[in-house]
Amino acid sequence: MRRNLSFFFALWVSKLAMLGLRVLGRKGTNLPGGCAIFLCRDFLGRIPRPERVIGITGTNGKTTVANMVEDVLDACGVDYCCNRSGSNVDTGVASALIANCGWTGRPKKALAIFELDERSSNLSMPYIKPDLLLCTNIFRDSYKRNAHPEYIVDILNRFVPAGVKLILNADDLMCSSLKQDNPRVYFSIAAQPGEESGSENIVQDVRACPRCGETLDWEIRRYHHIGRAACPACGFASPQAAYTAVTLGEDEMLVENGGESHLFPLADRHLINVYNSLAAVALLRELGLPPEKIAGAMGGAAISATRYLEEEAGGRKVILHLAKGQNPVACSRAFQNIRDYPGEKAVILFLDDYFDAAHSVENTAWYYDADFEFLADGSVTQIVAAGARHWDVYLRLLMAGVPPERLAHTPATEEAAAVLDPSAQAVFILYDVYTIGLANRVKDQVKELFSKEG
Ligand SMILES: [Zn+2]
Repeated sequence: MRRNLSFFFALWVSKLAMLGLRVLGRKGTNLPGGCAIFLCRDFLGRIPRPERVIGITGTNGKTTVANMVEDVLDACGVDYCCNRSGSNVDTGVASALIANCGWTGRPKKALAIFELDERSSNLSMPYIKPDLLLCTNIFRDSYKRNAHPEYIVDILNRFVPAGVKLILNADDLMCSSLKQDNPRVYFSIAAQPGEESGSENIVQDVRACPRCGETLDWEIRRYHHIGRAACPACGFASPQAAYTAVTLGEDEMLVENGGESHLFPLADRHLINVYNSLAAVALLRELGLPPEKIAGAMGGAAISATRYLEEEAGGRKVILHLAKGQNPVACSRAFQNIRDYPGEKAVILFLDDYFDAAHSVENTAWYYDADFEFLADGSVTQIVAAGARHWDVYLRLLMAGVPPERLAHTPATEEAAAVLDPSAQAVFILYDVYTIGLANRVKDQVKELFSKEG
């Protein structure tokens, strides 16, 4: 697209807005990008694109993977621009591009890494046309925003441009089926010794063969529809991966690619984070970075502390764990991690969506897709449900088989720590993306409690 008068007008106004915000000490806002798109609707298509644009999308893990990739590029001294401090929708991408260009629109950095919201990819993908697009997975998310996973697959199939090279999760049939005609590589985790097949989850969105409709046979099903499947009728099967994590150690994984094997550090052994690390490795390799360099740099790239944080007080653990309100899959993963965490633990649940909570929460259907059953495990000594929907969470926990004497609930989120049993051996605090402030305040209260109790 040509740069026209309305493009330059939008660029200059938004650059002035950015300067103004900087003077006021505010960074990483969507405002300049929003302003540019308001003044020139196809601004993203008109602004000159960096030489190489990388997109990272998918339901869960895209922020973690984008952060990991960026941390590795930083450690390797590769210069790039990104939307890390802004948002992952079109206005956030526009803001990042505006910050990266001069007054003529010419990009300053040749490489751009963008986290891209899958739901609104119709507003970004056709314009920025990434050279490489990584999709972590496709799952159920907030019904209100994302409807059903097939709806998201349809949006991506319609709006990811033809020719874009895809890096896809071979163990997710929804993700691996995207844009059949585009060039692609897959990543996968090989079946591990002793790994049990048979998912315990309520939600399983891929049951039938996408080609002929026959019920799929699962060689391994890790959680929800993540695993390896084959169709007994037509021969359809999960695709073969170019990047396979063949063995998983405590803090490293051996990845096979092109007949070679290399070790890469793992920040976290939870499978969702192994998939995130593996996705980051595949993307960085596709970008042309040598494996030794990636492995060296990944050691320092920890899971962002806004997603998982362990602290200690009075010899006991207090753990912040992101659970994403209205996202049954992210919550189920968190619940399973809690069950599998060694020893006894208590849990504080802040599950109300922050924006919904402000205007009352309307939809509680997702509670019945999330696997609260993991919390009925005997090692979970107490569960405190706090927030506007505390009665609904209480009911759901009862239905999951949690004995009532292990449950406490309160509408007052700030009082959650006061309700907590002070003898708890460890405490998980589950929170939504936008309630990290609340979670941190309650974490500090719990730590104070633990320090006093010794
Ligand atoms: Zn079939």
